[in-house]
Amino acid sequence: MKRLAILGSTGSIGQSTLSIVEQFPDRYQVAALAAGRNVDEALAQTVRWRPKIVSLATEELADQLATRLKEAGVTGIEVVHGTEGTVACSTLPDADFVVSAIVGVAGLEATHAAILAGKPVGLANKECMVAAGEILTAAAGKQNVPILPIDSEHNAVHQCLRVGAHSEVKTIWLTASGGPFRQLPLDQFASITPAQALKHPTWVMGRRITIDSASMLNKGLEVIEACRLFDVPPAQVRVIVHAQSTVHSLVEYVDGSILAQISVTDMRLPILYALAWPERPASTLTFDLGALRHLDFEPPDLERFPCLRLAFEAAEKGGSHCIALNAADEVAVEAFLEGRIPFMGIPRTIEQVLASTPEAHPATIAEVLAADREARKTAHALLP
Ligand code: MG
Repeated sequence: MKRLAILGSTGSIGQSTLSIVEQFPDRYQVAALAAGRNVDEALAQTVRWRPKIVSLATEELADQLATRLKEAGVTGIEVVHGTEGTVACSTLPDADFVVSAIVGVAGLEATHAAILAGKPVGLANKECMVAAGEILTAAAGKQNVPILPIDSEHNAVHQCLRVGAHSEVKTIWLTASGGPFRQLPLDQFASITPAQALKHPTWVMGRRITIDSASMLNKGLEVIEACRLFDVPPAQVRVIVHAQSTVHSLVEYVDGSILAQISVTDMRLPILYALAWPERPASTLTFDLGALRHLDFEPPDLERFPCLRLAFEAAEKGGSHCIALNAADEVAVEAFLEGRIPFMGIPRTIEQVLASTPEAHPATIAEVLAADREARKTAHALLP
């Protein structure tokens, strides 16, 4: 029986994780939930799953939850809040496995603390790897703790890497859906609206990641994530547009063999893989191969998707440039959603922030968070 701490339990990955727990009651239990800001959902999850500890974003929200649990007659559950609360969840002695699915750098300290506490991590939060991948992978190596990727592409790569040695890998190919603007002519990019950008063709996800998919910055973050998770330089990672999102990623070996992972586009599969690794439990998530007619691949267009070029440049520099890429994008996406900048203002803002970011390699989480704040400040100052 694995007892889970789920960080980001009310988000889409958190909810999918709980549906896996529901399907596999003899394999998984819920020990801790870090729920963020949604008190209604946190209450429903706490009543249903009876964790030892629940964390909310603020003290006020935690008080609300505690009061409502009391009214519902649910006792014996510790309600905590803030970063300390999330860390308490991720390091709970009773938890055997941590699902890290808080969006943004908010989940960074808790993820780091989980690794230091010797807990295997299922990582859905790519910002953690982008901002502090060097620190997290070093800590995981030292503690001999696995980091299992839940991001679908990296999960696919993880699976394809099981058949060969690291020295035999030539290229990691990350597939990209290309987003809603895959075929939009460049001259129409100026008039893209938030509503258009929020319509993703294959995956239903949070708002920021959906915009990041439309700009392909998401794929850029995934390139950096792949370099850190699989210990390869950016030159060994390539992106290929594959609109069907059927092949979730591929690994090319030095002998010319290319291995691909194919499955339904359902996040429950990579979550189950991460939770169960190194086992593979039987599931109902089958893929109808007989219905598959063709697979299309095409190289990405860096002129229409400059965010991808910027990410490769940041990946080469590492450290502060990866932190700034992520932070500037988050600020710029918010401004785009509020109608303050156009769609192509996102890469422009990122490029300007990167240009004014000194090269540095933060050695602690505190230094990472300071660099993150600095980059956000620079981005805000550039925006109207
Ligand atoms: Mg992905």
